[in-house]
Amino acid sequence: MGALPKRKKSKSRAMMRLSHSAVKAPALVECPQCHIMIRPHHACPACGKYNGRDVVSQKEPKKTQPTGPLAPPKK
Ligand SMILES: [Zn+2]
Repeated sequence: MGALPKRKKSKSRAMMRLSHSAVKAPALVECPQCHIMIRPHHACPACGKYNGRDVVSQKEPKKTQPTGPLAPPKK
């Protein structure tokens, strides 16, 4: 067995430790494209843009993409 505490932590001591463990609300900023609230420094989950650029392909544009021999080559 490893080292064990000599005495029980009092309720007061335990609550003093837990006073730092509250869950805080996440920081949110407004998406400049679709104006929903998003996490800062993350791509927008609704429009897939980050810093004005498309970084995440969305479901709707995928449906309209042409398929077949005339489609642009994929990487
Ligand atoms: Zn957006």
